Amino acid sequence: MATILDGKKCSEKHLELLKEQIEDEGLYPHLATIIAGNDPASKMYVRMKHRACERVGIGSVGIELAEDTTTENVLEKVRQLNADPEIDGILVQLPLPKQIDAERVIAAVRPAKDADGFHPENLGLLFSGRPRFTPCTPTGIMTLLSEYKIPAAGAHAVIAGRSIDVGRPMAALLLNADATVTICHSRTKNLTDELKRADILISAIGKARFIRPGMVKPGAVVIDVGINQLDGKTVGDVDFDAVKEIAGAITPVPGGVGPMTIATLMENTFRAAKVRTCGSAR
Ligand code: NAP
Repeated sequence: MATILDGKKCSEKHLELLKEQIEDEGLYPHLATIIAGNDPASKMYVRMKHRACERVGIGSVGIELAEDTTTENVLEKVRQLNADPEIDGILVQLPLPKQIDAERVIAAVRPAKDADGFHPENLGLLFSGRPRFTPCTPTGIMTLLSEYKIPAAGAHAVIAGRSIDVGRPMAALLLNADATVTICHSRTKNLTDELKRADILISAIGKARFIRPGMVKPGAVVIDVGINQLDGKTVGDVDFDAVKEIAGAITPVPGGVGPMTIATLMENTFRAAKVRTCGSAR
């Protein structure tokens, strides 16, 4: 049976380390979040992020905008936070309501305060092999792999999903770590054949229990990014109970990738504060 990659335990460890580091450095980093609308899942994620801030000694401010807010309103808030010397990191909770031009909003965040790592400049640096702030979910996955001493170098990593927040930056991070990378999406032919070639299979498609044992190479490391609601339960993209019987290692949902995403956001905010105060993240 597969090793369970315990993202909750790993994130707890990283948050504790970060808390000590923040105390040692005598810093008081600040994260600002912007949320527009009333999506219950988004509200819950933002609450969890603020709780994590409190736990590690990061100050946080939350800006809540109405569902019918405008792009200009969101941009104005971003500009204020960009100019605020107290704020180190800015996170705009996605998805934004559909009338908002999300690309403009993300591009308006000052790259040095881009705790989410979605700004085109930061994504460009990541893709050119010189990462600065990198997106939290794929970065958290890299931390989890490293914690369990799962080498990416030389491994064939197959990613299902090509979104800008997960699939694409995941590919760049794995490539930077010397994996051979395949990205699949809804137009991929023979998806099962592609997935079955994976030493490391990462699913970020958002379809409940889509990945079945027949799509997984025996012994593969299976990372489940999906968060889906099924019969009142939160489940991943992977049919966990069946796939864990043939995988070498697997993340649960919940308790796998999700907590690592939040721990990485805290680390990015701390790094932004260090750059602001010391001019270096080291
Ligand atoms: P997204 O933007 O909707 O992207 C989904 C991707 O999956 C797209 O690239 C799509 O292909 C591909 N896809 C959809 N159906 C497919 C199929 N049948 N076969 C192959 N590819 C398929 O989603 P996302 O933002 O990346 O999120 C994906 C999932 O991860 C969601 O469940 C989300 O809630 C979860 N998530 C979790 C975390 C976390 O911290 N745990 C963070 C972010 C997201 P096309 O590009 O061709 O449409």
